[in-house]
Amino acid sequence: MTAGRCQLAKTWALHLLRPIPGGNGTLSTLPRWRIQTRLTMHIRKDRIADMTSRKARELGGARTASLRFKLTFLGLLLITCLSKLQSQTVAMTVDDLPYAPGGSKPPGPEDAKTAELINKKLLHAFSHTHIPVTGFVIEQDVERIGTSTGRKILKKWTGPGFDLGNHTYSHADSDTFSGDHFEQEIVRGESTIGPLLQSVSRKPQYFRFPYNHTGDTKEKHDSIAAFLAARGYRLAPCTIDNSDYEFDPAYVLAMKRHDKETAAKLRADYLSYTAAEIDWYSKLDRQVFGYEVPHVMLLHDNQLNADTVSDIIALFEQRGYRFVTLTQALQDPAYATRETYITKFGPMWGYRWAKELNVKVNGSDEPDPPAWINQYVKEAHAGAN
Ligand SMILES: [Zn+2]
Repeated sequence: MTAGRCQLAKTWALHLLRPIPGGNGTLSTLPRWRIQTRLTMHIRKDRIADMTSRKARELGGARTASLRFKLTFLGLLLITCLSKLQSQTVAMTVDDLPYAPGGSKPPGPEDAKTAELINKKLLHAFSHTHIPVTGFVIEQDVERIGTSTGRKILKKWTGPGFDLGNHTYSHADSDTFSGDHFEQEIVRGESTIGPLLQSVSRKPQYFRFPYNHTGDTKEKHDSIAAFLAARGYRLAPCTIDNSDYEFDPAYVLAMKRHDKETAAKLRADYLSYTAAEIDWYSKLDRQVFGYEVPHVMLLHDNQLNADTVSDIIALFEQRGYRFVTLTQALQDPAYATRETYITKFGPMWGYRWAKELNVKVNGSDEPDPPAWINQYVKEAHAGAN
């Protein structure tokens, strides 16, 4: 059932609860003309009174039965609407493990403590609420942060409800890499996650393209896809992007400068924007398929998400979402849509599906993050120089 049908049920409910014309405003009241009947002869009065009460009972009984039927029907309709709301699902995914520092600098050994703290916060929020999550690892960043620290962090991502996927060795952009070179990136991307998952009797099963660049030519796209499939991978798409990578550098900077006011404003604006994007992408998928496809939320392993993850979870809960594994989300037929649309960009899957299925959507309506965020970073850097 669609939201439109639920709205219809609501309107219908209001119609049902209108007072009966001529009554005193309650559904059990008889029409006024019956009450006003006056008779003088006792016998007739009694007969009529008896008849009236019988008629009244019949009429009342019929009305009660009709009302009971309507309420039962309404109840079923509302239950269906509620169960539909409950059936909206989302799989949470986190990219750029073991740690994505704000800005363009990759993580280093000096970030080890921060990285551990950030992952601890993220995993605690997810495990505390029994929310499954899949993390995608950049192998080179495991080396940069220190293999021992990197492994220690990632080991925790192999616990119950958690999973690790491959995000290439160096966060390789398939737009700029040859197909062969990209395949090497996939294989090298398994160096840490392969043995870690093996130690819990699993293996890497999901691959996410950095920047969601899935191959800028048909030949490259198809050859990488075939390589991934032969290696036992399934592509990890995503359907909601909240541009956390734009907010995070400003947030990290504000925290570093002890600019609490800006940090609080960033968190608030980030959550408002995330809410707007959840609603935007839900609408987009409904436009393409006529129903809300199980979502795959894209987040990054950064400080901003560590500090707001519980609020992000709450945004989904307030909208009636259930949290599912990536595997469960991808069982929806939408994810079996053919993939012939080739692009050098990395749009969310709603846009790709729209192209594949020839559905016209207006991407210019998608909200943008507030402009002041980048301005804050620019001004800070200009002031430092
Ligand atoms: Zn990434």
